[in-house]
Formats: sequence, C-alpha cells, structure tokens
Amino acid sequence: MKARTTRKNQGKVVLVGAGPGAPDLIAIRGADALGRAEVVIYDYLVSQEILRLAPPNAELIYAGKKGGSNKAIEQSDLNAMLIAYARKGRNVVRLNGGDPFIFGRGGEEAEALARAKIPFEIVPGVTSAIAAPAFAGIPLTHREHGSFVTFVTGHEDERKGERSAIPWKELALAAKNRGTIVILMGTARMRATLERLSEAGLPENTPAGAIEWATTAAQRTVLATLGTLADACARDGIGAPAVIVVGECAGLREHLKWAEKMPLFGRTIVVTRARAAASDFAAALRRLGADIVQFHTIETARPKSFAPLDKAIARLDSFDWIIFTSATGVESFIERLRSLGRDIRDLGRASIAAIGPATASRLAHYALRVAALPNEYRAEAIISAIGASRIREKRFLIPRAEIAREILPDTLREKGAKEVVVAPAYRTIKPKRADVERIRELIAASAIDLVTFTSSSTATNFFELVGKSAKGLKAAAIGPITTETARQLGFDVVVSPREYTISALAEAIREYYARHPKS
Ligand code: SAH
Repeated sequence: MKARTTRKNQGKVVLVGAGPGAPDLIAIRGADALGRAEVVIYDYLVSQEILRLAPPNAELIYAGKKGGSNKAIEQSDLNAMLIAYARKGRNVVRLNGGDPFIFGRGGEEAEALARAKIPFEIVPGVTSAIAAPAFAGIPLTHREHGSFVTFVTGHEDERKGERSAIPWKELALAAKNRGTIVILMGTARMRATLERLSEAGLPENTPAGAIEWATTAAQRTVLATLGTLADACARDGIGAPAVIVVGECAGLREHLKWAEKMPLFGRTIVVTRARAAASDFAAALRRLGADIVQFHTIETARPKSFAPLDKAIARLDSFDWIIFTSATGVESFIERLRSLGRDIRDLGRASIAAIGPATASRLAHYALRVAALPNEYRAEAIISAIGASRIREKRFLIPRAEIAREILPDTLREKGAKEVVVAPAYRTIKPKRADVERIRELIAASAIDLVTFTSSSTATNFFELVGKSAKGLKAAAIGPITTETARQLGFDVVVSPREYTISALAEAIREYYARHPKS
C-alpha cells in the first residue's frame, strides 16, 4: 500500500493584527496569512470585510471580547482552543483588532502557545492607538510639539487593594513637557482619568481629543481640552471604541484634519457585484473615503453536469423556441456553445424568448433578436408573450440555472408543447445566511447610505434575499434598465450615470454626495 497522504500533524497559529477597522489597513502579510487560514478566531473589533480575506470554507469563530460582556469566550478557553486546533494540524489565524500586542491578548496567547510548544508567528497590525490619531489629523510626535508617546489603558485591571500601576503623576509631568498620551479603552472612565491628570498638574487648557470608530464610516472626532473633553464627549455621545489623545500635538488637528474632507467620508455603501468584479469598484469608492460593505448577491459556477445542455446543443436545429430566463443564462449558454466549437448560427430557426429586459439586452449583445418579451418580470408572463397558439406542438429549450422554479416548463407542457428540454447552463451559489443577516441589521440601524446595482439581477437578487426592509433604500444603478428594475422593486434610485461604466458610476456617486453634503 502506498504511504498515506502526509498531512502535517502539527499546525501553527498566526497572531494577526487586523488593523483599526478599514479593511485595507491590514498588513499584506496579515492578509496573506488569512488567505491561507483553515480556522480564524476573531474578536469584536474585527470588521466583517476583513473576514472575507479568509477562504470561503475556513471555519470562522467569534471570540467575543466586547468590553464588559460576559458572552466572550474566557481567555483560558481561547488559549486551549488555539492549541487544540493547532494540534489537529490546522492552520489557525487568531485575528485581533489593531495590533495583537497592543492591549490585545496577544501576549498571553503567545505565552500559552510557547508553553504548549505550538509554533506561532506574529503579524503586527496598525494599532488604533496610531490609526485613530492619524485619521483625526493628530501627529503623535512632532519636532516642536511632541517628543515621546505613551500608550495607556483607561481601563486598568485594578485588583482589590492594589494601587494603580499607571504613574499618572509622571504622565502629567511628561505631557506638560511635550509628551503625548494616548489612552485606549478610556471612554467609561474618561472624566476620572482626565481629572487625575489635571490634579497631577497638567494644565486644564492642554489640547485633548477623542476619536470614536476611527477609520470607519462612523468615525467622529471631538477636539477640546483636558478640562472640557469629558463634557464635550458626553454632549456628543462619544462612546467605545474611542481613542483619547492628550498633549500639545492634539491641537494640530485644527489644521491637519483631512479624513472628513474626503468626498465619501462617513458614507457606508453596499457593493453588490459578483465577487471577482467587485473589488475594483469597492476600491474606487474606498479611495473617495467610503466605507464599503460587500454583499455578493449572487455567484455563479458551472452546473454539476453539462450533459443535458450538450445534448441539446447537439440538436439545436430541432427546437422551435429557446427561452432564456436570465442574463447569466445567456452568458453561460453562449460560453458553452463556444467551448463546444459551435457558433450562434447553429441556433438555426429557433425563435428566442427572454424573460426580461436585462436578458434581452444580453441577447442583443450577440445580435440575437428576441421574438417574445413579457412586460412583467415573471416566468408565467412569458407564456402569454409567446402566445398559446405558438406553443402547441412546439419544441422548447430552456437553458437556465440548475435549480429553478418548475412553473415555466410545467405550464408549457400544459399548454400542449410537444417537448420541453430544461438544460442547466450554470449553478447559482447563494450568499451565506450570516451575510444576509448582516445587511438586515445594517438596514435596521439605518447604517446604509447607498446600495449600488451594476445589473438588474443584482437589484432583484438583493431584494429577494434581504426582503421588504430593502424598500426605500437609496440606490445607485448603472444604466436605465437597472434603474428601472431597482425602481420597480421600491429602491430610491438617486444615482444613475449617463455612461454605463463602473468608473462613471463611482464618479456619479461622488457628484451626488457633493450636492448632498452630510448634515
Ligand atoms: N489591539 C487593539 C486594541 C484593543 S483594546 C489595537 O491595537 O487597536 C480596545 C480599544 O481599542 C478600544 O477601547 C479603543 O480604545 C481602541 N480602538 C480599537 N479600534 C478603534 C477604532 N476603530 N476607533 C477608536 N478606537 C479604537
């Protein structure tokens, strides 16, 4: 017998910093580790968009870790889990918000792994301690205003009877002498912390700022002073997660504020294109400052078997009608025809029916004229578009998705068709339940500014998946047909570029928001 396939018997754990929130602020090495992960254990501040970098079949485990929540997995259990998966030979990524070694549990996890002799690696991330000030226009050091920086926890693990390990007095003195203090986990005890600094001698008028949800669409910054920051934050409702910066450098924000000036700052835009095509569009919108939620409404793959379609293609001239029920159906059919070395002229004498305008326009692209097009977007309506008299004793071919409703072939048979051949031309893969839930939650929280549709099917699928709550959402649609479909579904189409390209769509979105600034 041949040797069994050698599966390495020990996996490894990579502690990866996910960065502060914006998914494109992860290190290239971190993205690479994620792309090869079999198990990903992530925490509360890691964005869903970053989790997309993991392979679709990777096991994703949420470790909780929201401040104060006892739903989080205990650290000791988490360590045990990392060790157990690695011992099973799995490639594990432990994904931490920001940097794993800055107020993450990376230190403890690495210790546990070292003790258990599990190989591990660390991929640093952009810590929020640096990213939040950067996105607020606050340099942490500056030749004239800041000579050193201290990262401090505002949520000290104060065990009973123990004194604070943080030398507040010295920190106050330091900040008075061009030091910058960066406080994480500091919102709950902000007032007390700032008072401690001022009691220790730091002047009340020292610049101080707080940055909430930095690098995301929810980013808000309050700039005040040591004496006024707590009140200002209370007034604006600034809460966790936020980074507090105290020191002369904080005052530089007044001149260096930049993120808020980006055309799409603070906007959350949903990109619905199919996976491969979505990234360029998402990147274009991100460059304009938008926060992108990718929601792949549909993905297509080869059907399990091409046999029925191939058989039909071999006798194409025997059909009276070919009915296409989606633009993807047209594409997949033509693609198969081509790969079999055939030609559209082999369609012969068959008349062509399309279910809707998007399908018809896909056919028009190949100079195929549609003989029947229903005015309603329903399989049933196509029957009356063809006309009962043109169904009886006729042969039909329906190249379509592997799983589709049976109503069209059944009705054709009922109306006396001689033969109805249903041939899978592609297979659709629905998005994960969790992705759909996430969109619904965002809608419920009024957190979506705009949904973008680059074809009628993205609009129809979005609506079918998300349901009625999608009605009324503001939308951008690429062309007149997509616009029409989206409007009929109840979307409020506010952007519809004159030119039907992705870059024109991004530009039209920018123009729309230039005309409608955030209040
Ligand atoms: N390891 C993380 C910090 C984890 S502690 C890092 O390096 O960033 C959690 C604290 O990080 C929060 O209380 C908050 O102070 C800060 N934080 C994380 N993400 C943030 C964000 N996007 N905006 C502002 N603060 C953030």
